[in-house]
Amino acid sequence: MEQLEKEGIATFHFRLFSRFDNISHFISSRQGGISDGHFSSLNTGFHVGDDNFRVLQNRRFLSEAIGIDLTKFTFANQCHSANVAIISDAQRGKGALEKDSALENTDGMVSNVKNICLTIQIADCVPILLYDPVQKVIAALHAGWRSTLKKIVTEAVSKMIQNYGSRAEDIYAGLGPANGPCCYEVGEDVYREARISLGPVKDVIKPAENEGKYIFDQWTANVKQLTDAGLKREHIEVSEICTQCHADTFFSSRANNGVTGRFMAGIMLKKRAHR
Ligand SMILES: [Zn+2]
Repeated sequence: MEQLEKEGIATFHFRLFSRFDNISHFISSRQGGISDGHFSSLNTGFHVGDDNFRVLQNRRFLSEAIGIDLTKFTFANQCHSANVAIISDAQRGKGALEKDSALENTDGMVSNVKNICLTIQIADCVPILLYDPVQKVIAALHAGWRSTLKKIVTEAVSKMIQNYGSRAEDIYAGLGPANGPCCYEVGEDVYREARISLGPVKDVIKPAENEGKYIFDQWTANVKQLTDAGLKREHIEVSEICTQCHADTFFSSRANNGVTGRFMAGIMLKKRAHR
């Protein structure tokens, strides 16, 4: 990923996506906001116990830094599902200024409508952005271990194919900062569920040094689902930045015993004048 900084706000961008000038995308960080304590400083989540006014200000700072009006953002109240919503004009701005209007029961969004920024909020789960430059379709997904085992990326690619005529081999994917295989320990329960859901899992879950614990590689699990769905491996960029190892730069739930803020991933199709 490439790091940019504007007005004190650091954002990260997938190199693979930089060749497409008709989309904007970003991953935010902790830097440049007004929240303090566990939420210091650019917390963008209303639902984590932070002061709502500060969260709204942080979202405004971020939207100014990336040059996308906050009323074009669409948010979901994420619930670790594999539910992927088709986003139309009616959902533009949902959840942007207050929590209550965010989309319910949604962890992924797909759209071909211009000037809607699909957003995901993250603190250890994997933010995944998809783009089909042929049919001009975007997606933003929140893939923690639960949504990964429920195969949210497979669901999103299916929706792009069924609803917009996308071809899997045209789709590009970016997997952002998340709790990486250096740190992400899970229990026997997750291991058992992973074996049922994903089949052979030796590249995805391995025994940890702590007895009875396993290391779950969220990135590899999602890359495998994407290539199984037909994406080219060279169309997939993995940030390989671990949130727990870099808890000073990104919010990490594990690094902060569950009390922390949220950073964001977003993607938008830009409206361009015809030449
Ligand atoms: Zn780590």
